Amino acid sequence: MAQNVYQFIDVKRIDPPKRSHSERTIEFVEIYQPMTHTQVEGQADRCLDCGNPYCEWKCPVHNYIPQWLKLANEGKIIEAAELAHKTNSLPEVCGRVCPQDRLCEGACTLNEGFGAVTIGSIEKYITDKAFEMGWRPDLSAVVKTERRVAVIGAGPAGLACADVLVRNGVTPVVFDRYPEIGGLLTFGIPPFKLEKSVLSLRREIFTDMGIEFRLNTNVGVDVSFDSLLSEYDAVFLALGTYTPMKGGLTNEDAPGVYEALPFLIGNINNLMGWQTEHPYVSLKDKTVVVLGGGDTAMDCVRTSIRQGATKVSCAYRRDEANMPGSRKEVQNAREEGVEFLFNLQPLGIEVNSAGQVCGVKVVTTEMGAPDAKGRRSPQPVPGSEQVLPADAVVIAFGFQPSPPQWLVDMGVELDNKGRVIASEKSTFAMQTNEHKIFAGGDMVLGSDLVVTAIAQGRKAAEGILDYLEV
Ligand code: FAD
Ligand code: SF4
Repeated sequence: MAQNVYQFIDVKRIDPPKRSHSERTIEFVEIYQPMTHTQVEGQADRCLDCGNPYCEWKCPVHNYIPQWLKLANEGKIIEAAELAHKTNSLPEVCGRVCPQDRLCEGACTLNEGFGAVTIGSIEKYITDKAFEMGWRPDLSAVVKTERRVAVIGAGPAGLACADVLVRNGVTPVVFDRYPEIGGLLTFGIPPFKLEKSVLSLRREIFTDMGIEFRLNTNVGVDVSFDSLLSEYDAVFLALGTYTPMKGGLTNEDAPGVYEALPFLIGNINNLMGWQTEHPYVSLKDKTVVVLGGGDTAMDCVRTSIRQGATKVSCAYRRDEANMPGSRKEVQNAREEGVEFLFNLQPLGIEVNSAGQVCGVKVVTTEMGAPDAKGRRSPQPVPGSEQVLPADAVVIAFGFQPSPPQWLVDMGVELDNKGRVIASEKSTFAMQTNEHKIFAGGDMVLGSDLVVTAIAQGRKAAEGILDYLEV
């Protein structure tokens, strides 16, 4: 690849510049600024092209990373974007929100003392730049068939499935109950990680490619699942997971205690002037405690800071090494003024005489033996209880699957956690026990990642194409 294979010694890893602290603590705009073309060329040139690209294997969509880094280094942005789209339906989104430190960049050979190649930032640059230059996916050679597939859910899994279908001549019709596409990318992830204009542009591009969107359409309410099943050649389910996990805390429903996702959606709606069922909650001038340690908790603490909360703490029951969220986002939250309180397990919400939240009762924990997933489980230390003062508490304990009744009635098989059973290894990838019904994303995996939802959506499209013999 590079003339000088030891380029990585002279050229250090650099991340894109971040906005100033003063901007970041008030503005709901992406904190990373674009890299310059020269920076991208230099950073891409750090790739060793090591012959056994662990980065590619660790990336859930198996992007051709070394190849598009080479193209970026040579200034061939359009070619790089073409190649990036061969494996990924939303590279500009993944470049922004993937936890690269746990995926591609975590597997980069240069991690051994030199700093991984900035793969995510370059993926974002390539795609943004190609769009800016007017590049659009070219489907002129696609031979259109008469086949039509209903995709339920316009989140990353549904969009990825639709993308692969339309590129193979099958018309996807995507249904979503919300007024915009994106699922949690739009109604969940805050704009300081992913600006909403990124998805509006994608909607335009997908529409021009021939994907039909039926938004503001709640399947099971506005249109019956049965009618979709009989009208279309196959159905792809990508409904996500939306039932919040409860902590079993005393006074969990007291005024001043908020569920994470409605809080985040209410804030986004307020910024965008959109209407959904979630009202806007302002935590201005409040002492806020966020409970949880995943990506959702990080989004809540950083939203609270921007809303003007007086003090924001994140209380998590394990230690920092066992946090599930992206390291990058923990660092960003710290820089913005969030206080992290590790090894504190919440026991209950404290309320004042008016019934209003005034604190969180917690107990200190020690890390015990690793569980089945290798994460060490927290053990409460007797007698270590204390109350953290708070006048607002946000609960971010994660989500569990919420399969709708029509799905259950249809006889689609679920596992004991309520996840739809569908496998990449089936004869037709991601097919459920009902032959015309395929499924993917969070509703199969449980709450996971954008890129794993994309990977499953794309696999499901391959399964559907095989099933339809296209
Ligand atoms: P979703 O994105 O949930 O999309 C499902 C769609 O189905 C929704 O649009 C919903 O409206 C629609 N739907 C549901 N039921 C119906 C119905 N009956 N009729 C019509 N439409 C319906 N992952 C990362 O990789 N990086 C991050 O930084 C990150 N941050 C996150 C922050 C938050 C706050 C949350 C909650 C999650 C985050 N995740 C992150 C996880 C990631 O967003 C999800 O794993 C991913 O969006 C799952 O994609 P999906 O397509 O399966 O489901
Ligand atoms: Fe890395 Fe995610 Fe891009 Fe794959 S999709 S290369 S994991 S940023």
